[in-house]
Order: sequence, then structure tokens, then C-alpha cells
Amino acid sequence: MAKFNPFEIPFEELLEVCRERHGHLCAGQVLGARLALLGLKLIGIKDPYGVDRKKFLVWVEIDRCATDAIQTVAGVSLGKRTMKFVDYGIMAATFLNLETGKAFRIVAKESAKEEAKKYFPEIASPAQRELLAYKIMPDEELFRVEEVEVIFSECDLPGKPRRKVVCEECGETIRDGKEVVKEGRTLCKVCAGQAYFKVLSRRPVHFPSC
Ligand SMILES: [Zn+2]
Ligand SMILES: [Zn+2]
Repeated sequence: MAKFNPFEIPFEELLEVCRERHGHLCAGQVLGARLALLGLKLIGIKDPYGVDRKKFLVWVEIDRCATDAIQTVAGVSLGKRTMKFVDYGIMAATFLNLETGKAFRIVAKESAKEEAKKYFPEIASPAQRELLAYKIMPDEELFRVEEVEVIFSECDLPGKPRRKVVCEECGETIRDGKEVVKEGRTLCKVCAGQAYFKVLSRRPVHFPSC
């Protein structure tokens, strides 16, 4: 069976795939799908699930609905390291062609919400209005695009870890160059004081039995 190709199916069918994976159809799915198609086109990727699947990376800047659609349409994944999450809280994503080095950052315009009113003035619900309008609004009204150079390390590429070190404080293995050197010691981010959590108790936790 031929691999799924977002460019070879009608947009409505593509949205159906997005809906299935995301759990509901929302304006974010439409926006994310449109953004992904535009991003892939800009960097010359025609078959993201097939022959081109190892030729590009995508950075997403927000963890909201549209991110799922970008993942679905472009076929990128965090686990495969083809999708990167940088937590900026901006509805934007950058598409990089690894062969040509060309990269474009696409930002969803906030003004699109207002523009959507022009298309469906009769619909009172912003969510419903945006869902329908984002299907037909031109790319220029939905997005701002800039050509960029992505700053990243070889350690961020898919494939086997290129670097593996041990934290001098806790002994955990740190992959992919994510260690921190503090006062001459190689530490994990947790031991370097950059953790996203606070340990409440050092007492061993009993594993729940089922
Ligand atoms: Zn949603
Ligand atoms: Zn550590």
C-alpha cells in the first residue's frame, strides 16, 4: 500500500485524519494542517511520509491543538527526533530541509481571527467561524513567513545518540549533549539547578501493585 501523502488527498480528507489523531476537529487542526502544507512546500518536501521522510526537521513553538495537526500532516515525531518542541508559547513552526539547509519559520497571524469575521459574518461563535474560514483564507492572511537559519547541534539529529555522559552528581546518563558544565563539573540539568520539578521526599516510593 502506498504511504500516506498529505499532498495527494483532498484537504477535507486530510482534516479527517487530523481529527482522528487529535480527538476532535477544531480551528487549530485546520490552521496546523495549512501551516504544515505550506512549510513542506516552502522547503521542497513533496512526500513527507515516504522518500522525503528523513530529509527535514520541524521545530514547534507551542503545545496546543495546531501542533498535533503539524505532526499529523508532516509526519514528524518527538520520539523520532524529527520534531522539536521549544516552549515559546507562540503559534509558530520552523521547517528545515536538511539537504539544502533552507529553513522557513511560519507564524500564525493573530489578525486571522479578526479577518475570519469577513468570511463568515453570520456565524457568532469564533471557534466555528475560524474553523470554516481557515479552510479558505489565503496563506498570506493566515501566516507570516520568514527565511531563517536554524541554530542546532549535530546532537539534535535523528539516529543513535552522538554523545552520552554521566552526571558527576547523581550518576544518571545524559544523552545528546544536554549536560551542563558548572564549576568544572559535568552535571545533568536537574543537579545543575535547572529542574522543572522539586523532589518532595527522598524516601523510597512503594510501587503500586495491581
Ligand atoms: Zn483541538
Ligand atoms: Zn545529576
